[in-house]
Amino acid sequence: MKLTRLDDWLKLRADISLPTGMWIDGRSAAAEDGATTPLISPRDGEILTHLPAAGAQDVARAVRSAKAAFDSGVWSRISPRERGETLIRWADLLEAHRDEMALLIALEMGKPVTIAWNVELKTTIGLIRWYGELADKLMDESPRGKNDALALVTREPMGVVAAITPWNFPMTLSTFKMPAALVAGNTVVLKPASQSPLSVLRAAELASEAGLPDGVLQVVTGSGPVTGAALASDNDVATLTFTGSTDVGKQLLHYSADSNAKPVWLELGGKSPNIIFPDAPSIEEAIDVAGWAISFNSGQMCTAGSRLLVHRDIHDQVVEGVTNYLAGLRIGDPLDPDTEMGPLASQRHRNDVLAEISKGMQTRAQLVLGSDQPLDRPGWFVEPAVFTGVDPDDRLAQHEIFGPVMSVLTFENDDEAIRIANNSDYGLGSAVWTSNLSRAAQVSRRLDAGLVWVNCFEEGDYSVPFGGRKLSGHGGDKSVHGLEKFTTTKTTWMAV
Ligand code: NAP
Repeated sequence: MKLTRLDDWLKLRADISLPTGMWIDGRSAAAEDGATTPLISPRDGEILTHLPAAGAQDVARAVRSAKAAFDSGVWSRISPRERGETLIRWADLLEAHRDEMALLIALEMGKPVTIAWNVELKTTIGLIRWYGELADKLMDESPRGKNDALALVTREPMGVVAAITPWNFPMTLSTFKMPAALVAGNTVVLKPASQSPLSVLRAAELASEAGLPDGVLQVVTGSGPVTGAALASDNDVATLTFTGSTDVGKQLLHYSADSNAKPVWLELGGKSPNIIFPDAPSIEEAIDVAGWAISFNSGQMCTAGSRLLVHRDIHDQVVEGVTNYLAGLRIGDPLDPDTEMGPLASQRHRNDVLAEISKGMQTRAQLVLGSDQPLDRPGWFVEPAVFTGVDPDDRLAQHEIFGPVMSVLTFENDDEAIRIANNSDYGLGSAVWTSNLSRAAQVSRRLDAGLVWVNCFEEGDYSVPFGGRKLSGHGGDKSVHGLEKFTTTKTTWMAV
């Protein structure tokens, strides 16, 4: 990252203009009735820009254009290699505009610009390139079942893919959907979160510049209950992929049932257990990672290590270490490259997080760090909070707060740790810290979660699926498996 001072980023902010339209048919578009909503930055409460509030007619326009692009074959019937090359050019353009993209993310949802640049955009650009490179390396099947007939099992694109995404990783989570759907030959209509449409709108513009034909990628802006609902209910949408809250995920299943019964793929909430045994290879490292796992992205992570399960023998040492880590974080302006923790994404979300802390203070748990009051500065800032003595059945241990609020629970043996860890409606991330190989293997096997990290947290790669089970959803994103939801098999028999 070359811009190393706050002033550098403020200058870039002054130099760029922010998107004001949706992206439909390869160009910026307003809502048909001209309706707009203001976009407010969590950094300082400033109005950044106004964006179209798409109504049902605008969504229909975007879907029709995506369907026309699909049916024309301009993307779905070109060679996979050509599709891959376009995605790679798109990744190159995002790399060339990495500063601007990081700035947009910091402005729209408050992620520290250093993290947006180093983490979010690294994954975004890398994943688009990875799918681009995969394009011509996929094989169909021809099973040898019969002598007098030839069977071909081919994977075909589905048509128009709708993607609805949240604000916590606006680019990364949209990229968990877009390149996989595109490389398979589909066209895409994306609805980003109302809080964070800027980076995705700019990315769509860059995709057009990279040679993506008009209509192949559309971005519609507007509220979930209007724009999102219209998209999820559209009969021309062949499949729907979603990342967001469990409540909205359930609602999408209703929209599907009430329209064309499209498949709905859900990446939902979490309450990830992070289990530290006394035989962890390094208690100090486990402590630092536990602090990171609840404060990274201001705790606004579906996989946040929000339930810290600590063996009774090391409880005091771990709590002291984690509170020291969190108390030492540099909280500040997301445009300052030295900032480690920025604000929460919106005023409403900040108020919700503080209300959860307040509710926790009325239980038997003790608040050993943090407060239920906002930080005294412009923007939606809170201090990290740690509760000890949390009852495993309490709201503090069950409800996804989606902020920097850690609940510490204790256990005495492996069975108890697993019982507490699995005592959740969610099943997304989980971590185990131990140097005992048998324990690591046994506990990992028994954890009811889509992701298990042993002596690490949040490890991942483009080649490995990411996703959960239970109320955390189904159908992992990323990797070769991430393509399955965007293709459908066809069996063709030929008499020979
Ligand atoms: P959210 O409220 O569920 O919103 C997600 C998206 O759904 C937004 O684009 C939202 O639009 C839209 N939406 C809201 N109501 C809708 C409706 N009735 N019909 C159609 N679309 C609708 O979630 P969020 O607050 O943005 O994000 C936080 C949640 O995402 C947390 O629960 C977190 O755990 C989860 N998450 C999961 C993963 C994962 O991979 N499992 C990753 C990241 C986040 P508006 O913005 O306009 O409301």
